[in-house]
Amino acid sequence: MDTIYEPARQIPVVREADVCVLGGGCTGVFAAIRAARLGMRVLLIEREGMLGGAAVGGLVNIWHTLMDTENREQIIAGLTEETISRLRSRGALTVQENRSSTYNFNPMELTILLDEMIRENRVGLMLHTAYAAAVAEGDRVRAVIVENKDGRRAVRASFFIDATGDGLAARDLGMPVYDHEYIQPPTPVFHLQGNLEGVNVDRLIREHGAEFGLPDDWGWSTHVAGLEGISMRADQHIFGVRCDRADDLTRAEVEGRRLVRGLVSLLQTYGRPDTHYAVSNLCSSLGLRETVHVRTRFRASERALLTGERYADPILQGTYPVDVHHAEDGGISFKYLDGTRTTIWGKGTRVETGNWREEASLSGPPARFYQVPFGILAGEEYANFIAAGRMVNADEGAFGALRVMVNLNQLGEAAGAAAALCLDRGEDIRTLDGASVTRALRDGGSAL
Ligand SMILES: Cc1cc2nc3c(=O)[nH]c(=O)nc-3n(C[C@H](O)[C@H](O)[C@H](O)COP(=O)(O)OP(=O)(O)OC[C@H]3O[C@@H](n4cnc5c(N)ncnc54)[C@H](O)[C@@H]3O)c2cc1C
Repeated sequence: MDTIYEPARQIPVVREADVCVLGGGCTGVFAAIRAARLGMRVLLIEREGMLGGAAVGGLVNIWHTLMDTENREQIIAGLTEETISRLRSRGALTVQENRSSTYNFNPMELTILLDEMIRENRVGLMLHTAYAAAVAEGDRVRAVIVENKDGRRAVRASFFIDATGDGLAARDLGMPVYDHEYIQPPTPVFHLQGNLEGVNVDRLIREHGAEFGLPDDWGWSTHVAGLEGISMRADQHIFGVRCDRADDLTRAEVEGRRLVRGLVSLLQTYGRPDTHYAVSNLCSSLGLRETVHVRTRFRASERALLTGERYADPILQGTYPVDVHHAEDGGISFKYLDGTRTTIWGKGTRVETGNWREEASLSGPPARFYQVPFGILAGEEYANFIAAGRMVNADEGAFGALRVMVNLNQLGEAAGAAAALCLDRGEDIRTLDGASVTRALRDGGSAL
């Protein structure tokens, strides 16, 4: 590749903080708030103009259950529960009683609430500011370079949390980054205006999708809490792209919008004749399920999650099933804690079911929930750095379960608590006692 020389220059240090969080998705916001509540001076840096990441810019508006599989014990609380109850009190959240989808919220209300929570907790905020590079000396990260309307600037901090989803700082710092053989494909999400009563969208796509360039691909949709006549649609995937690559991401964004238009055209042609179907909101960023993963001390495995392995220093508890969107054949596979498994291809064109516990000759009662220990956050390379979010260190199956927000929210909270403990005690993340993080999370309202 041809190159040019970028001259070295002095970069003004515009902010200093105890903890600097890169990326203001829910993971990053919750990391920032936890650290602030433990007395840290925190700065949160977000590339977009809004907080919430995939939940807001990607219009992904479901948080799953906070209870165990028997609905007996609450296993998730903390900032997830706090956010749910605040959204509910302003009419921006509804509760759905089915197997895996529980809380449905209005993404626009979520971003407004996150602004309030950031302000209340005195977290410093830089929006429209993109992380661009990291500066390390030995095993300590000293500063990050950011870019915004003021130009290229530096931020110094004692501890850094990378919550960019893609592990951008971890990659730049030379931490071991890897990808799965099958990377879960992205989906363009949009809000559809128009009455769908009596319209079977899946059947229309199966029968007429090809006329509009829409493949028979698994997808889903839901309502948007508090909005009449609007549905959230996630009907199609984009295959064969790697969204950690700039050119692929560009191609995927454009293809995603073509698919959205295709679906609206299909409904305008074959939907209810008395209804005008329209796009009322389009994701500002394509829904990225997966890019890369950052290697840390502990790698979550599907087997340990589904069999409910227990740890002395848990930082996350969950029940969301292994949920893997196939990389190329329009299918999706679920494996639940109770042993059942289902694979669906296309719009229900083919379905296969089974029981993975029986197939693995497992006896005894199934686990009611799973746990993940603190080691999943601690890398071997840096004393003052954590990557938290969908770059989580997990095999394909475990990632399929951990990638949802009720889980990643907890990873964020744990990252914030761990950063605060390290700074309070002058400790290194690599030697920090994981049980002390569990205790700090419990004291701060987690259900661990
Ligand atoms: C279509 C789809 C449907 C899904 N459905 C569900 C569901 O129903 N329920 C569920 O819980 N989960 C669902 N998920 C998964 C879930 O939404 C994501 O895994 C999760 O939100 C990822 O969280 P994150 O904080 O790691 O990343 P993100 O939410 O993507 O947050 C990363 C943040 O970092 C910012 N950022 C990135 N680069 C930079 C930079 N250079 N500088 C500064 N900021 C930067 C981004 O703008 C963003 O705000 C779905 C995902 C997709 C794609």
